[in-house]
Amino acid sequence: MKAAAEEQGLSWLGISEHSQTASYAGGLTVERLRAQVKAIAALNAQGGCELLTGVESDILQDGSLDYAAEVLDELDVVVASVHNRHGQGGAAMTERMLRAARHPSTTLFGHPTGRLLLGRPPPEVDMAALLDACAEAGTAIELNASAHRLDLSARHLAMARARGVTIIINPDAHSIRELANLEFGVSIARRAGLGPDDVLNSRSIDEVRAWLAR
Ligand SMILES: [Zn+2]
Repeated sequence: MKAAAEEQGLSWLGISEHSQTASYAGGLTVERLRAQVKAIAALNAQGGCELLTGVESDILQDGSLDYAAEVLDELDVVVASVHNRHGQGGAAMTERMLRAARHPSTTLFGHPTGRLLLGRPPPEVDMAALLDACAEAGTAIELNASAHRLDLSARHLAMARARGVTIIINPDAHSIRELANLEFGVSIARRAGLGPDDVLNSRSIDEVRAWLAR
């Protein structure tokens, strides 16, 4: 992934495997997660595209995250995402999401509506409340650029910007090839009226590290 990112001209890239609840997706145990952090440190020592350590932590049914806070806080980036029980009703799902958005370890909220294009409709969550919670907690929001998701929509992105929520385009790459999804994200962001200054992606690694350290 590092070599492919360099080929695409990226100066930094966040790595976030699935978490332990997502065993169907090979989610990482704490031991494997820590081993990956070490491997990334070794790669970063070689220079070039800088990798950020991280994980995509499942948001459990009660809104808690999938690892203890002390494990999450060893990482640069924690993406909090809903991956199961999408059928939970609107109010309960909104509560679940708000709790995860306010979790002190959460860096950004992943594929916020959870919709799958031509697959699963979004649950009826209160997106304004979620974006308010992100603004208040300093949690960023993901523009997931997977062609299966394109989540958030341009309308919701504009709502996020109006609230001062930091927006991060994530190619959701499960392979080297999918790093190219970034382009879809750029197009959706432009459609929402966002320019380079409105997304974290266009900042240098030093600026990103300073933002993460807040
Ligand atoms: Zn996900």
